[in-house]
Parts: sequence; C-alpha cells; structure tokens
Amino acid sequence: MNDCLFCRMNRGEIPVEKIAENDHAFAIRDINPRAPVHDLIIPKTHVPTAREIEWVHGDLLAGLLALAREVARLEGVFDGGYRLAFNVGDNAGMTIFHLHLHLLGGRKLGPEG
Ligand SMILES: [Zn+2]
Repeated sequence: MNDCLFCRMNRGEIPVEKIAENDHAFAIRDINPRAPVHDLIIPKTHVPTAREIEWVHGDLLAGLLALAREVARLEGVFDGGYRLAFNVGDNAGMTIFHLHLHLLGGRKLGPEG
C-alpha cells in the first residue's frame, strides 16, 4: 500500500465523484479547472509519470485513451474537439506524481491550453 493520492482514490479510501471508469482507469474532474471541461484520466496502476512508461504498459495506455474517448462523449466535447495532455515533471507543473491524462475542452484552446 502506498499513500499516493490517486492510488488512495482508486482504493476508495478518499471519496471522489468518478465521471466514468473501466478496468484500467477512472476519470474525475480537475479541482482547479483551466477550461470549461477539465478532467483527469487516471490509470488504476501506479506509474509516476509518462517518463516511466514502458512497452508493458500498452494495455494501460489503451485503457486510458478508451476512457478519455468515453469521457469526451459524456462531457459533450467529442465532436467539437478537445486536448489530451500529459504533464511530466516540475517544469510542466506536475503536482501529483501518479500518471494522469488531462482532458481539456469546451472552448477554443490556445497553443498551450
Ligand atoms: Zn499512485
């Protein structure tokens, strides 16, 4: 057991409203949204950042992207377009070191968000 925030959410130790989930990932809303739609797609397996992704994580990544597509539909941004982004490390503003995919949409996005 580790005390990572997202791992604790996944284990149900911290109550959280999940938008959707599948076998590999769950999705929540960002608590500090930077766009009308700003969700986090979080793998159920602990991987610190995208730097640690290896070939063995193929199913995890497919599950992450499949859930992102479902969330885009649920949030009403599927047709209009949206951004998927991994922040990696301090300079990217990463604050929780458990891999998560940002889904941003609901307005025209600038070059960096
Ligand atoms: Zn974790």
